[in-house]
Amino acid sequence: MTTTVHLARVIEAIDFAAHAHRAQRRKDAELTPYINHPITLLRILGIEACIDDPDVLCAAALHDYIEDCCGGLGQMTVEQGKAIVSDRFGAQVLEYVMAVTDDKTLPKAERKRMQVEYAAHIPHSARLVKLADKTANLRDIAQCPPADWSVQRRREYFDWAATVVAQLRGTHAGLEALFAEAFAARP
Ligand code: NDP
Ligand code: ZN
Repeated sequence: MTTTVHLARVIEAIDFAAHAHRAQRRKDAELTPYINHPITLLRILGIEACIDDPDVLCAAALHDYIEDCCGGLGQMTVEQGKAIVSDRFGAQVLEYVMAVTDDKTLPKAERKRMQVEYAAHIPHSARLVKLADKTANLRDIAQCPPADWSVQRRREYFDWAATVVAQLRGTHAGLEALFAEAFAARP
């Protein structure tokens, strides 16, 4: 496929995510529009780490779509969301998105434990997205943290994120260096 076709698919994914997350906000005091977060992942992957695989970039744009836009009251089901991602962006993109999607029917502590347990077993491309996601969230917690989080809670998140990323060692030197840089701002 040509570069133009790949670029079009990535732009479609960003547009799709912008629409899907349009009513959502991040947890910081300014209630930043949620879509800023997937766009940050695209920046980290595409610009800071020079990754140009369109499936990885589409998965980054869509990485929180199933988790945050499907399965709730008044939303489409997880199965419907998966079918849309697969039809519009391909089975590969869906596989990567699902590899970084928590099962929200499980208790939070269990979800966090499963991320540590399964990080090393997801596809390489999904690991790239996970590394960028953790880096983006550490940067957010350092610069625009959730409004009600104590220093203790911010530290706990940094430490948990580092435990997940430790399972991804050897995935991508550039992304791991960016994570380490973000971790250096631990409160
Ligand atoms: P949450 O999962 O509730 O929140 C973190 C997630 O929110 C991120 O992974 C990110 O997910 C999303 N997010 C939205 N806005 C922001 C933002 N501005 N900055 C960063 N992330 C944002 O938190 P945790 O359950 O992970 O809690 C963190 C730690 O605190 C845990 O280790 C837990 O043990 C501990 N904890 C402490 C509590 C306490 O009261 N002391 C209560 C609960 C947990 P995404 O990428 O999907 O958007
Ligand atoms: Zn995310």
